[in-house]
Amino acid sequence: MSECIFCKIVDKSISSQIVYESADVLAFYDLNPQAPTHILIIPKKHVPKLSSASAEDVELLGKVQIAARDIAAKLKIDDFRLVLNNGRKAGQSVDHIHYHLLGGRRMNWPPG
Ligand code: AMP
Repeated sequence: MSECIFCKIVDKSISSQIVYESADVLAFYDLNPQAPTHILIIPKKHVPKLSSASAEDVELLGKVQIAARDIAAKLKIDDFRLVLNNGRKAGQSVDHIHYHLLGGRRMNWPPG
């Protein structure tokens, strides 16, 4: 059985507050929100990080981004930030590709 926490969220052995689900993509609220709206959008397939994605994941990653678009539209969030942390020094703590959809407040640039 997978030790990956996000795979466990996908197979529902860990509960989460799901906002979107398709055959390939799952989205749920982040446990430790960094903005009024903070949603994680993941491929159901276990891909540890963007660096380890392959050409066969191109369509899948496109679906993840389009899911972000649809979730933002559904929640009526016009301005949002979509963040992917790749590697520990970039802030990645869970080794399963995920995009953070952040909205509901003004964002700063550059990010820390
Ligand atoms: P990152 O630091 O980019 O790898 O992001 C991982 C995110 O996963 C963090 O924002 C955590 O708050 C979030 N997280 C970890 N475990 C859970 C969980 N069980 N349910 C929802 N969000 C989680």
